[in-house]
Amino acid sequence: GDDELNIATSPLRSFVPSHTASKWSDTTSYVAKKMIQSWFQLPNGNWELGKILSTSGTESVISLSEGKVLKVNPDSLLPANPNILDGVDDLMQLSYLNEPSVLYNLQFRYNQDMIYTKAGPVLVAINPFKEVPLYGTDYIEAYKCKSIESPHVYAITDTAIREMIRDEVNQSIIISGESGAGKTETAKIAMQYLAALGGGSGIENEILKTNPILEAFGNAKTLRNDNSSRFGKLIEIHFSETGKISGAQIQTFLLEKSRVVQCAEGERSYHIFYQLCAGAPPPLKEKLNLKSANEYKYLKQSNCNSIAGVDDAERFHIIVGALDIVHVSKEDQESVFAMLAAVLGLGNVSFTVIDNENHVEPVTDEGLTNVAKLIGCNIGELKLALSTRNMRVGNDNIVQKLTLSQAIDTRDALAKSIYSCLFDWLVEQINKSLAVGKRRTGRSISILDIYGFESFDRNSFEQFCINYANERLQQHFNRHLFKLEQEEYIQDGIDWAKVDFEDNQDCLNLFEKKPLGLLSLLDEESTFPNGTDLTFANKLKQHLNSNSCFRGERDKAFTICHYAGEVMYDTTGFLEKNRDLLHLDSIQLLSSCTCQLPQIFASSMLMQSEKPVAGALFKSGRAESQKLSVATKFKGQLFQLIQRLENTTPHFIRCIKPNNLQSPGIYEQGLVLQQLRCCGVLEVVRISRSGFPTRMSHQKFARRYGFLLLDHVASQDPLSVSVAILHQFNILPEMYQVGYTKLFFRTGQIGVLEDTRNHT
Ligand code: ATP
Ligand code: MG
Repeated sequence: GDDELNIATSPLRSFVPSHTASKWSDTTSYVAKKMIQSWFQLPNGNWELGKILSTSGTESVISLSEGKVLKVNPDSLLPANPNILDGVDDLMQLSYLNEPSVLYNLQFRYNQDMIYTKAGPVLVAINPFKEVPLYGTDYIEAYKCKSIESPHVYAITDTAIREMIRDEVNQSIIISGESGAGKTETAKIAMQYLAALGGGSGIENEILKTNPILEAFGNAKTLRNDNSSRFGKLIEIHFSETGKISGAQIQTFLLEKSRVVQCAEGERSYHIFYQLCAGAPPPLKEKLNLKSANEYKYLKQSNCNSIAGVDDAERFHIIVGALDIVHVSKEDQESVFAMLAAVLGLGNVSFTVIDNENHVEPVTDEGLTNVAKLIGCNIGELKLALSTRNMRVGNDNIVQKLTLSQAIDTRDALAKSIYSCLFDWLVEQINKSLAVGKRRTGRSISILDIYGFESFDRNSFEQFCINYANERLQQHFNRHLFKLEQEEYIQDGIDWAKVDFEDNQDCLNLFEKKPLGLLSLLDEESTFPNGTDLTFANKLKQHLNSNSCFRGERDKAFTICHYAGEVMYDTTGFLEKNRDLLHLDSIQLLSSCTCQLPQIFASSMLMQSEKPVAGALFKSGRAESQKLSVATKFKGQLFQLIQRLENTTPHFIRCIKPNNLQSPGIYEQGLVLQQLRCCGVLEVVRISRSGFPTRMSHQKFARRYGFLLLDHVASQDPLSVSVAILHQFNILPEMYQVGYTKLFFRTGQIGVLEDTRNHT
């Protein structure tokens, strides 16, 4: 029970001054002699708890489970914590902070459905893959009045609200983790808490309803997660001065649009397509000439039309209800569905060869006619846009006919563009509905749910962008937890030995340096008419091989040493994906449509384009309009995001996926460990534990707790008052440091004072 565990919360047991600390604050030789309980690593990599029976020189005898006794090298053992520390709710409380001890502690809690654990200032959340009884009104109420203290998303969200009010600073909750680790669910749980505490105006319900909408249009079943977000999301929730929610704003990042036209075996395209096909009421079905999902090539190709336990038709009705609530009119909803049907219809357009040069023309069938009807264009023009390309050569306009593969690319590019424009448009509508009025005087809490670090067997442009984003976010994390902390100690004259932390600036430079960084070289190659994925790869090898974070590989591949590990990228498709061009013919087609949405899409595409480029690109027939490359646009978004986050007090949640089967009750040590390493959880505990994470100015401290003083203090200056308070409450000297302007405390020290203050 909790009482037992509290024993461990009092003073830090094994504080080792940081300058003497090795990687962990424990040394193995010390262990083997003194400890009876020890971790022994099995050949499969898992750790097992054993008892050391004897140690002499280079040999220890250890007894493991089921009567096994082994002779081992003491160096292969790590100390285990006393049983009394089993399942502590903050890893900082562990006496021995080695990897097996952390893994064991998390597993011990996980087995009892305690999926949340603190790692110093960071909340670790392990996906239960089942319903756990930790949520809902009673729990919200309990966290609100602080009758429960165990780690929880509610608790961290509560802290964010309090700090927003107390410090008058905007807050952010930054959620990261691998695909399927539980980021999106965690974000929803945080929103639920905010809505419960800040609700009242009704806008909170609208905000909650954005979740099912964005999930329908931006999530899909993948092999890793049945409901995988294929975009990044930042939602900024605004509060009035009275602490009530006054509105919100959503920003999305890099939707994976390739999924609209192709997806891997066993995966699905975006949920909304299946929901529409299954759930559209008959009149709508007829109006849009909708077929069932397995009659559309885009949906059929992956041989997966349904998700176990999910009723797409029922979901469709939920989405319609949610769209109503965020004020998307019935008319607009119908336009949205028409666009979806048009995208699916485009996928079914087929081509016939019309001459002996392999040029093609779309087959005029019912499907093609329907697409023209849905977007409101002339059939002839649609056919032309899908099979020819207008080019300027010198002063002449020439019409080039397309080959089959060019025509298919053109068709797919049009489908992808319509979908991603639709997604952006929808987010814009939602934002209009959630907009805060002009008087934006209050504060905000932002929640970031963004794809974590990815490393697959084959990594492409998408992983390149995602991992770049993670590299930036990791730096933000580092800066906040380590760097700023150190700087502050030094500034305030605190005696504190430096702790090294993994700095990833070199890797960021590899991406961002101009003109010889990955992003610049990619953009440069993307604008060369003769640039190919191979010339790009060669250029990287030529210019970056001396960089310690980069390694050229065979053929078109290269490796980046990310903070979370090495990833090999295959450049196939990089240039095409980075250019992401839609031919001017297609844009013109959309702008000629009689329906409103295609027109809006066309003008937003033109707005992104700069003036048409003359010369080489024109002649190559590859591009008719120049726009920002995908990587450059993404980099811009990312910088803006980091800047916004820099102006907030961050709260970090690291989600962990305990197994790859999406099953409850299975805890794979190796998998968990790899994620803990990737997101720097172990590092952060080590550093927080040897530092003074809580700090307050003398003035603030004196003002906040001065009234608790029992004896009169002769001098009323803040420092004297502060010192008197520290004495009165018996805060041990090793638990704090007095700086020039601030007091610095080890974790947990302020708690007692806050409790007394709140109950006085
Ligand atoms: P992706 O990066 O692919 O979007 P994610 O990290 O957002 O992944 P989620 O979609 O949040 O992952 O979670 C995957 C699944 O895990 C959920 O659909 C749900 O079934 C389960 N899950 C996650 N968190 C919880 C929780 N707190 N309680 C119960 N189930 C959960
Ligand atoms: Mg998600």
